[in-house]
This record gives sequence, structure tokens and C-alpha cells, in this order.
Amino acid sequence: MTTLFISDLHLCKQRPDITSMFKSFLENKARHARALYILGDLFEYWLGDDALDETALTVAKWLKSLNESGVTIYYMAGNRDFLLGDAYAQKSGMQIISEPHVIELNGEKTLLIHGDAECTDDVPYQQARIMLRNPEWQAGFLSKSIPERIAFAEQARKQSEAHTQGASMEIMDVNQSAIEALFQQHQVKQMIHGHTHRPAIHENNGTRRIVLGDWHKQASYLAYNDSGISLVHA
Ligand code: MN
Repeated sequence: MTTLFISDLHLCKQRPDITSMFKSFLENKARHARALYILGDLFEYWLGDDALDETALTVAKWLKSLNESGVTIYYMAGNRDFLLGDAYAQKSGMQIISEPHVIELNGEKTLLIHGDAECTDDVPYQQARIMLRNPEWQAGFLSKSIPERIAFAEQARKQSEAHTQGASMEIMDVNQSAIEALFQQHQVKQMIHGHTHRPAIHENNGTRRIVLGDWHKQASYLAYNDSGISLVHA
């Protein structure tokens, strides 16, 4: 049976074409899978489970239907949708897994992460991440009114855009030492992550790091089954 991995769909109401692509993926490819792992940034932004827009509600229905057809769905937070909580997970039939998460694939211990925490060369980003992932900060944010949360998110998006444009390509990738440290620490030889939007399979000194692609223009997934792996980005 196949296990599927996806990340970085960045679904939002401004991009209905990607949302329909995802619908088709859930109704076709994903139906034949044993499990679907969503490794972060399913949504472009997340203001809280009490602030669901039309896209979030529709996607929840589709995911729930896939889950009810017998496919187990796991969700790991990304840097955009890290506030997605138990209420939405339940509505969607997803099980939340926290990062890092180790699973076994055909007997191979495999580490799952989103990938942003390993972009350690991007110091300003890592500093912002410490604040955003702080439970107290998150509780404060979720206690604000929805218009206040929208205003904050809009500002954060603009700052992030300006930062991304100014930063070099190397800084925006994972740091090799951070990756090697993870392999060591968790005693694994295989890792799957997203975030960088650079789909590839890196084989290095007996380790394999699979980077999932984004859904900016196309569907993108990793299919892992008994006969092998395929990283599809088309
Ligand atoms: Mn990301």
C-alpha cells in the first residue's frame, strides 16, 4: 500500500485553481493510499480554528470524506498554519503530529519535519519563529478579535515578503549541519520535509533526504510504497 506525503499547498481563497487541484488529488490519487501525511503549510495562513473561511470549511469536508473512506490523515504544522488546532483537525478527520515525528516506512525509520526550523542561516526568521511558536504569544494572538488577527497577519505577510526578497537563496535553504545533527540525534537514515519548495532526493553518506515540492503551479507529492518511491512534481 502507498503512503503519500505532501506539503506547502498554501491553500487560500485567492487561488481557487490550487484548491481544485487538491480536490482532485484527494478524490483520485489519495483514495488508493493507506495514509496521507501533510507536512505543513496546507494553508497560506491560519487565524485560528474559530476563524474559518470558505476555503478552510470546504477543505475540511473533502479531508473528512477521504478519512471516512479509510485513509488515515496526519497533519504537521508548517510556518504558515501552525495555529491549526484540535477543533479543525477533528472536523477534517486529521490526526495532529508534532515535529519532529519518526515513522517506519518499509522498515526504514524515517524522520518527518516541516523544514523551517532547519533554515538556521536565516537568523531574523529564526528569531521571529521563537516568538510565533511561544504558547503564551499564541494564546494572546488567539484572544484578539478576528479583524485584529487579520491585520496582524497581513502585516506579517508583508514583512516576510520583503525579507524573502532581500535574502539570498542559500540562506533560505536548510542548513547542512542542522540536517546532519538531526540524522544523528534521531538515529535515522531517512528524512522527509518540505518548506523550501525545492523538490529533490538527496543521497549522502548513506542517508536519504526527500524534499517535497510546493503546489504553487502544480500538484506535488511523494508516493512511498513497497516497490519504491516516486517524487511527483508535475
Ligand atoms: Mn513553510
